[in-house]
Amino acid sequence: MTDQARLNLLGMTRPQLADFFAQRGEKPFRAVQVLKWMHQRGCGDFEQMSDLAKSARAWLAEAAEIRAPEVVLEQSAADGTRKWLLRLDDGNCIETVFIPEEGRGTLCVSSQVGCALGCSFCSTARQGFNRNLTAAEIIGQLQVARQRLQPSEGQSRVVTNVVLMGMGEPLLNFDAVAAAVSLMLEDHAYGLSRRRVTVSTVGVVPGIDRLRETEPVALALSLHAVDDALRDQLVPLNRKYPLDQVLAACRRYVGRGGHHDRITMEYVLLEGVNDSPDQARALARRLRDVPCKINLIPFNPYPGSPYRRPGEAAIARFRDILVQAGYTTITRRPRGDDIDAACGQLVGRVAERARRGPSAGGERVPSGTAA
Ligand code: SAH
Repeated sequence: MTDQARLNLLGMTRPQLADFFAQRGEKPFRAVQVLKWMHQRGCGDFEQMSDLAKSARAWLAEAAEIRAPEVVLEQSAADGTRKWLLRLDDGNCIETVFIPEEGRGTLCVSSQVGCALGCSFCSTARQGFNRNLTAAEIIGQLQVARQRLQPSEGQSRVVTNVVLMGMGEPLLNFDAVAAAVSLMLEDHAYGLSRRRVTVSTVGVVPGIDRLRETEPVALALSLHAVDDALRDQLVPLNRKYPLDQVLAACRRYVGRGGHHDRITMEYVLLEGVNDSPDQARALARRLRDVPCKINLIPFNPYPGSPYRRPGEAAIARFRDILVQAGYTTITRRPRGDDIDAACGQLVGRVAERARRGPSAGGERVPSGTAA
């Protein structure tokens, strides 16, 4: 049997895997065994799955495979940030970044190759949209990180948090993202709590509602402006789903059901565009009835970018207004400076590489996006 004909089990959810085994006359608990081998032990070889019958191992090796994207480049920064350039089956490349912090380790994963949404300040937008990642390619980023990161003594896991803040719009690749998220939460796979998995969106309203109904993990909204005219320019999807609708979806998300107490509002600070004290006050007013905390992301410039990062004084002034208005406000700092692991940069470079092939230069990564 050729490789193409084998089914990749890596991205299958527990129910999908149980079906797969049931169809072949195997007991559903085989799904749990294989999940543990794949996601807890990082094993990709059926032959090593010692608690499966020999005959089962044999037919699995014929019919199926367990395949994560291939690492083509690995870099480590002085602050412990790690990034991997991963090659997909079709030759496209994506990057995954690990950001260690006191008491936690956050993995920033991609959901698409490129992006169709065209946000004016984002380098991924310039590359356009290539394709959605499969569930296996999304969860495979965790597999790679787990294999490459050794827990230190007394530490049970290295990746404690996952943020879908790499390349792409996760809610426009809903099914694959939902399947990968269910594996992040699944006890027999990664077993992360809902609060430790964050989906970041520009505000795809139907996707926010669907996520609430199916996999209500932590939600981050890329807000960037609270005036529709300005947000239309920065985030063109705002013309389809304007602020009132997006913020209403956020209120629904945290409301009934009580899965989450707060949304994370991401706000990229662009000098002279959305960083004035008046705009900070307008932001504070507009979010009054949305349970949230605010992440300020000083713009990360990239070659040819049309915007500038505000000075430290302007950033502090903006933050202070929000803090005084009662918001928990965090200013994100770029991580992995020495390997250029800064927010929003990775993506452009990655897409460049994706087009030119993995051998081309460029050593940028996405960001210190740890929420
Ligand atoms: N499409 C999703 C996921 C990408 S998340 C979303 O937009 O939420 C990446 C975060 O980094 C978003 O908040 C995005 O607005 C921000 N970002 C993109 N380019 C940036 C840049 N050059 N500097 C700072 N932040 C950037």
